Amino acid sequence: MLYKRSSQLFAEAEKVIPGGVNSPVRAFKAVGGTPIFVKSAKGAYLYDEDGNKLIDYINSWGPMVLGHAYQPVVDAVIEKAKLGTSFGMPTELETEIAALAVSMVPNIDKIRFVNSGTEACMSAIRLARGFTKRDKIIKFAGCYHGHSDSFLIQAGSGAVTFGSPNSPGVTQGTAKDTLLAKYNDLENVKTLVEANKGEIAAIIIEAVAGNMGCIVPKEGFLQGLRDLCTENGILLIFDEVMTGFRLARGGVQELYGIDADIVTFGKVIGGGLPVGAFAAREEIMNYLAPLGPVYQAGTLSGNPLAMAAGLAMLKALDSDREIFTRLEEKTAYLEAGIHRVLKANNVVFTINRVGSMISVHFDADPVTDFQTAAKGDNETFKKFFHGLLQEGVYIAPSAYETWFITDALTYEDLDFTINAIDKVSKTF
Ligand code: PLP
Repeated sequence: MLYKRSSQLFAEAEKVIPGGVNSPVRAFKAVGGTPIFVKSAKGAYLYDEDGNKLIDYINSWGPMVLGHAYQPVVDAVIEKAKLGTSFGMPTELETEIAALAVSMVPNIDKIRFVNSGTEACMSAIRLARGFTKRDKIIKFAGCYHGHSDSFLIQAGSGAVTFGSPNSPGVTQGTAKDTLLAKYNDLENVKTLVEANKGEIAAIIIEAVAGNMGCIVPKEGFLQGLRDLCTENGILLIFDEVMTGFRLARGGVQELYGIDADIVTFGKVIGGGLPVGAFAAREEIMNYLAPLGPVYQAGTLSGNPLAMAAGLAMLKALDSDREIFTRLEEKTAYLEAGIHRVLKANNVVFTINRVGSMISVHFDADPVTDFQTAAKGDNETFKKFFHGLLQEGVYIAPSAYETWFITDALTYEDLDFTINAIDKVSKTF
């Protein structure tokens, strides 16, 4: 496949946009080469500026769980746009999507909409601090909760891909209130809590992590965190920006039957438009302005186009109860296929998967946290990535990312992908 026009467009973009991209993970810095410029997308496929068709395993980094240009979402946005694109005043639509989200997700009474997952997590932390009147938070190495200052401490995803898990610009003052724990290591978290008794407002976690590849929580780990939080008056925040409305109708809380105190959303909840949200039981949410003292706001929050897209998406996920079963079956099929061909080609690998989130690591040992994720063979990953691209299969240009499976994928697409992996892995 040729990427001539994409390369030209990238050269033009670099002149006026830092690194040519508006979000670092889009750059191909970790794998070499230049990013693909997209012209359009439909269902499971991307169509680029050079006329190539690619099977998409990124799906806008998660939101397109039902495929690109999903018709009910497109129709809803077009209809709403005709009525005005932003009012900065309440609309009935906001209550409709809020009520639906609250009915789908366990353990939440109220939800507030913002414009990104970053905003959702940033606001959730402020709310937790205001509610508990404590300053410190615990996050896990390799987990990414957006690019706000408190979280850029050993962050995963693009931050680690580009070697800045601790970003310059985050002050010492901010950093000192973020304590770092090891994913899947309950004893480590207990030690931190013990050493900071009565000072920790919240523990925030990607309950199934997706920003160091897909990391599965060990048996008992999440329940252990729940108990620890309850015993110590700490709020447990599940960052469900990736997992919400993807791993189950009610996200990880439903999947594993564990209650969080605050839940954050992004990606799927906006149907591909810029939306985030955070939610909790009434007692906590009523701490927010204008009811309570914790301030949080947004000119475009609850934007009618974004809410229309999100509502169409949630309605689709709410009405077809088989979607999550299909996603599980398709991804399990893909996992089995990848396993088969990599093994046949004597590749050293580990595959992690929960539902429709899956990652392939080029290492023989179990990948259970940031340290083990970082051990993977990056040279093999580069060959894997570029080989698949040549075959028309698009995965994330970083070994630290999860693949997001969409219901729009057919079994023919999955077979095509497995064959492509077979072919590429023969060249390692
Ligand atoms: N939380 C998680 C788990 C994420 O994966 C991301 C983004 O990938 C975010 C938060 C930040 O969301 P956004 O990029 O919409 O700001």
